[in-house]
Amino acid sequence: MIPAAFTYHRPTSVQQAIGLLAQFGEECRTLAGGHSLIPMMKLRLATPGHLVDLAGVPELKGIRADGDDIVVGAMTTQHDLITSGLLSTSIPLLRETSLVLADPQVRYVGTLGGNVANGDPGNDMPAVMMCLDASYHVASQTGKRRITAREFYKGAYLTALETGEIVTDIRIPVPRAGHGYAYEKLKRKIGDYATAAAAVTLSLSEGRVVSCSIGLTNVAETPLWAEEAAKILTGSALDAATVKKAVTAAEAITSPANDARGPAHYRTKMAGVMLTRALARAKERARG
Ligand SMILES: Cc1cc2nc3c(=O)[nH]c(=O)nc-3n(C[C@H](O)[C@H](O)[C@H](O)COP(=O)(O)OP(=O)(O)OC[C@H]3O[C@@H](n4cnc5c(N)ncnc54)[C@H](O)[C@@H]3O)c2cc1C
Repeated sequence: MIPAAFTYHRPTSVQQAIGLLAQFGEECRTLAGGHSLIPMMKLRLATPGHLVDLAGVPELKGIRADGDDIVVGAMTTQHDLITSGLLSTSIPLLRETSLVLADPQVRYVGTLGGNVANGDPGNDMPAVMMCLDASYHVASQTGKRRITAREFYKGAYLTALETGEIVTDIRIPVPRAGHGYAYEKLKRKIGDYATAAAAVTLSLSEGRVVSCSIGLTNVAETPLWAEEAAKILTGSALDAATVKKAVTAAEAITSPANDARGPAHYRTKMAGVMLTRALARAKERARG
């Protein structure tokens, strides 16, 4: 399939990019790695008249420490997340997630900004960003603002981004030293989106959970932050009965679609299985 005709723009700064977005408004889409947008355009599910390609904007690339946070430029590729020494020591959950996201060819080009801004509930990074309490820095001609991942997702392909806004970078608080983490994803084959997946970070003190956060992928119209499940686990020694109670609470907030990956009931149950496995692995990895 061939996309409908469009005009291609290649700005070299954020200022130029947001200027173009302001000029063309609803007619315009931001292009990052193109691995979600171009297939949509080929299927004519998206027919933008103008594409603003961010690939020529160097200020949108890179991974840096800033106080207690890591800041990742929106145009940083998923492959860059895997090879970053800074991320593998400070937020290893991102490397673990990137390694099960799509396939190497997609990861060389697909960006973190595109993955979090896309709004597809099948994308892996949004639930991970909710789990980590990340926030997105957003810019437009009217100014800058910061939106937390937990507030960003409003529905399938519906986010808090307004027309004319781009995500410039993603700010992620570094979890405390010695934390446990895991991303467990059930997929039918390499390169597939999740049937269900669960992200966990937790910290232990004398064998008990002092903090815990849980995100779920592709089991509702939006990624989910399982706040109640994490509360149930806090204070516990992650004993089997408490884990079961938390998993039941997490399953209760899911509302997956029946699709080629399985009926809704199965996908809910798989979210529970992924969460159980993620909790066990995070516990094994946690010190304290
Ligand atoms: C075969 C295949 C398998 C895949 N499997 C997975 C998978 O298992 N898990 C997964 O998570 N993803 C998967 N993907 C999607 C892939 O990770 C995409 O790269 C990603 O979702 C979008 O990133 P992108 O840089 O390609 O964005 P694009 O496709 O360029 O853009 C996606 C959307 O985000 C908007 N956008 C992009 N950047 C910005 C920005 N900075 N600010 C505001 N809006 C922006 C665009 O306008 C567009 O609406 C797969 C893709 C393919 C082709």
